[in-house]
Amino acid sequence: MNYQLIRSKRKTLSLQINSNAELIVRAPNRLSVKKIEQFIDEKSNWIEKKSTSVDAKKPQKHSYIEAEKFLYLGGEYPLSVDINHAKGLNFDGQIFSLNTGGKQEFLAWYKTAFKNVALPRLDYYADLYQLNYQQVRLKTQKTLWGSCSSVNNINLNYLLIMAPMNVIDYVIVHELAHTKIKNHSKDFWQLVELILPKYKASKSWLKNNGYKLCNL
Ligand SMILES: [Zn+2]
Repeated sequence: MNYQLIRSKRKTLSLQINSNAELIVRAPNRLSVKKIEQFIDEKSNWIEKKSTSVDAKKPQKHSYIEAEKFLYLGGEYPLSVDINHAKGLNFDGQIFSLNTGGKQEFLAWYKTAFKNVALPRLDYYADLYQLNYQQVRLKTQKTLWGSCSSVNNINLNYLLIMAPMNVIDYVIVHELAHTKIKNHSKDFWQLVELILPKYKASKSWLKNNGYKLCNL
């Protein structure tokens, strides 16, 4: 088994799987390689389990082929690819149909869907709670779902349209709350909770599943 060995003045051995699924071993300066490898051997089940879960969290890129599944508002829908389909990408509520292309067609479709379905939520919450923003821009930044500038311009990642509506609402409300409170203080989270009492479930959905939205 390959591993990276870091020796130091420490007294105990420790193992870590980094985000690239590589094994990092921290060991005391004088501990023999034999002892180190014995320890690795004993922990092989843990290593296996841990590195598989890291691998599983890496976004698997789409290939835009028949029957591949695509997310929309938290649901998964199959793709049908046929040159005889209507031009571009279409969705009938159950199936995505594409005549030709792939990534660009999905990006455009998701952006339009975000504008039509998700963006109205921004003004809904802004009006309801008098949280005023200047401008809103739609972007696709990997793993950045939203941001709010010092002058209250809001950026939203339109790939969020793949997530369930409660998750989209959470990101929108989070950024709107920043128009009033710039930090992540207790007051900030209280404001978010006042608007979305169940925001914690949405926040952890994004933490655990966000990688699924970065696979185009
Ligand atoms: Zn924030």
